[in-house]
Amino acid sequence: MAELSFLGAAGTVTGSKHLLTIGGKHILVDCGMFQGTVDVRNLNDAPLPLAADDIDAVIITHGHIDHVGFLPKLVADGFSGPIYTTPPTAALMSIVLNDAAHLQSYMHARGFGHERPNTPPPYYNQVDVDTTMRHVHPVAYESNFDVAGVAQGSLHNAGHIIGSAFAALRFEGKRVIFSGDLGRYDRPLLFDPSPIEAVDVLVCESTYGDREHPAEPLEELRKVLIEAVTRGGAIIIPSFAVERTQDLLYALGQLQRMDERLASVPVHLDSPMAEAVDDLFAKFPHDYKALPDASAPNFGCKHLTIHVTAEDSKRLNTVKGSHIIISASGMASGGRILHHLHNHLADAHASVIFVGYQGAGTLGNLLVHGAHSVRILGETMVVRAHIANVEGYSAHADSKGLLRWLSTCTSTPQFYAVHGEPASAAALCATVTHKLHWPAAVARRGTTVTL
Ligand SMILES: [Zn+2]
Repeated sequence: MAELSFLGAAGTVTGSKHLLTIGGKHILVDCGMFQGTVDVRNLNDAPLPLAADDIDAVIITHGHIDHVGFLPKLVADGFSGPIYTTPPTAALMSIVLNDAAHLQSYMHARGFGHERPNTPPPYYNQVDVDTTMRHVHPVAYESNFDVAGVAQGSLHNAGHIIGSAFAALRFEGKRVIFSGDLGRYDRPLLFDPSPIEAVDVLVCESTYGDREHPAEPLEELRKVLIEAVTRGGAIIIPSFAVERTQDLLYALGQLQRMDERLASVPVHLDSPMAEAVDDLFAKFPHDYKALPDASAPNFGCKHLTIHVTAEDSKRLNTVKGSHIIISASGMASGGRILHHLHNHLADAHASVIFVGYQGAGTLGNLLVHGAHSVRILGETMVVRAHIANVEGYSAHADSKGLLRWLSTCTSTPQFYAVHGEPASAAALCATVTHKLHWPAAVARRGTTVTL
């Protein structure tokens, strides 16, 4: 008999952790950090229902912090089994986990966090990250691997970010799939998600389960950027360093060629991870599509300056006139973007353009919903800058994309919606029930189902 327990990303979009118990062995799929409101972040301090050293193996679907950010804590607490993931995700994990360790110690040392006066001690340090990376076993897409002697695992392209996968496990005559985060079809850089085929239980993300993306975001981005250039101040785009940033650079390159008002606006990519991410793309050229003009550097974006060091980043404070600053994190929940927002939010000439999902309780969510003042780096800031939200650059499938992927399933599985706010998870379940006629339920955190 096998059981599935939902330990995270159930009722929220962060903290992904799903525990499979098969023949007395424990397999964790994803080990993400909870992010967002104080209540949600406090879930990071709640103990898991089993000891870390009772977990036999971990499978990681992709390198976003809400899917992998808690892994070094699990290792620090005693987990010593294998961690299976794709080669690009293994490389990306090393980048993002080192950055997360650095950020946690920085935020703690400075004694502030967004609306959280007593920032907790770091969950882990660089040494824990190094130890974690020694447990990683990279496995190629579509190849089978043994999991704890009780299941056969395989990873399949999810089209969400470079190296992203959905995980399939075969055991006791069943096949179970965890979608991880599902990407979109027909994207400029990434390949389409692989088909599901026959499956008995399907655990699926539902971030955009109740919404559709605009068909063509490039024109909307152009409009918003032209307005921002007319205002004359800094144009700040919060964006995670991987994938959306590359999509954005590609889009900015297209717009520079399309519209002369944007042709010479300087673009600054401010990220300590920029070079490492560049290397990642160079190292795995077969994990994304070749661009039409493969010789163009920086995904076709001109007038780009990359700022890696803190000193380089600080020099941006003195730049005048219209200039674009792309910096992480995408939900403005930490990282260098906080300094740029701190510098520019009170300036009526400045613009902030969000280009992705803004989780409940994040600074990005507050700004997108029209907050007149926000707390940043321990200070209350009045918001005078213009705030825009161009949703079409999300790395997640929308309700239509999710249904398109689910329609590649050739069986009638039990369906569980995870990784969505309650309304979008419920909407996706309703779609699945009515259109696909599958038994569907919204997963609740802390519950266990028999498979
Ligand atoms: Zn993700």
